[in-house]
Amino acid sequence: MIEKRTILVRYDEIGLKGGNRKYFTKILLKNIKRALPVDRGIEYRVPRGRILIDVPKSVADEIVDQLKMIPGIASYSVGVSVNPDFDEIAAFGVKWIEPLLESKGKLKFCVRTRRSAKTFPKTSPEVNFEVGSRIMSQLQERGLVVDIKGSEFTLEIEIGATDTIIFDNRHPGLSGLPVGSAGNILCMLSGGIDSPVAAYLMACRGCRVHFVFFDNQPFLGRGGYEKVLKLSKIINRFQGRAKLFVLPFQDIQVAIRDHCREENRVVLYRRMMYRIADAIAKQYKMPGLVTGESLGQVASQTLENLAAVTCVTSINIFRPLIGMNKEGIIKRAKEIGTYEISIEPQPDCCAVFMPSSPVTRGKIPILENDEEKFMWKELQEKALDNMETIQVDNL
Ligand code: ATP
Ligand code: MG
Repeated sequence: MIEKRTILVRYDEIGLKGGNRKYFTKILLKNIKRALPVDRGIEYRVPRGRILIDVPKSVADEIVDQLKMIPGIASYSVGVSVNPDFDEIAAFGVKWIEPLLESKGKLKFCVRTRRSAKTFPKTSPEVNFEVGSRIMSQLQERGLVVDIKGSEFTLEIEIGATDTIIFDNRHPGLSGLPVGSAGNILCMLSGGIDSPVAAYLMACRGCRVHFVFFDNQPFLGRGGYEKVLKLSKIINRFQGRAKLFVLPFQDIQVAIRDHCREENRVVLYRRMMYRIADAIAKQYKMPGLVTGESLGQVASQTLENLAAVTCVTSINIFRPLIGMNKEGIIKRAKEIGTYEISIEPQPDCCAVFMPSSPVTRGKIPILENDEEKFMWKELQEKALDNMETIQVDNL
């Protein structure tokens, strides 16, 4: 007989969603099924308030590694399914406790029960007592003591209407909301440290995040492109099914460099990026853009310059890093696994086109006056006509 494990998945904020709870649970279950292998004898059960995943013991570790990457999971425990039978549960408890007792000589333990099926004939404290006393009767003489506050080993029991699970561990998940529950959005992804973190944070709020990269490759080679491909793939591990749009940006940069006031260049490049991203988002019915901007981080991210880029679009702009400092952003980038790629050397997007002193408080009428000096609408159309669309899952 194949030895089985049951992984008990607790959701994060889904529990708060009242009537929408079913909708959120369905999406989370779909995301979990999509992330886990199909051919390993995995089975799912969805009792009220939980998702249970039955797996052969040999693949449990592999499954757990995948669950750690799925937004919307508050925590999970690896345990076993049992009958709601005190002798059977106590036998498992003894089996799990014995080796610990052997190595430590003494052990403080307790039993903790959660009973969602109120029809079960015993209360939670009664179950604790029944199971705890059975375990004690076998192991007391070998050094086991009951200690609820100072417990070194907690045997947890969850009794549902149809399922009873026991376990001795709890691991934190990514939390947040399941990807797809909020909808699709488009992240402006550069090869830097910030924008991948911004994308990740929005994925954890239930968005499926697609990416757009403005590539100035004839000037800088394909280094930026390669980095963005790798970054999209890493962020996609948390969500799946993302698209990456890559657009040539060099003609626009050249036009701005050659025709506009030098100090305005950066804000003008960025207004063009926002316009193009806006057009793609609308084409794909995505009601929001995401950027890695953080207030005051560089000259282009002052309040005035952010306003000067926001006003060229009419959809939501999300800047989840707006109040974070660089240190906090770097910490997150390391946690999600994008940092090492982001710091690979790459000529800066705007380095060869950078003004010596960029404007910090761009004035919209002056920017608009600059834009009259080149054919920005035609250039925008041309960039969109030459857009490359990549399915990130297939990378
Ligand atoms: P990052 O913020 O990713 O670390 P950065 O610090 O160089 O890059 P800026 O150049 O100031 O940031 O750009 C701010 C934001 O604008 C980025 O976080 C990203 O969302 C977007 N962005 C900048 N350059 C590009 C580009 N070439 N393609 C797509 N988005 C870009
Ligand atoms: Mg930045």
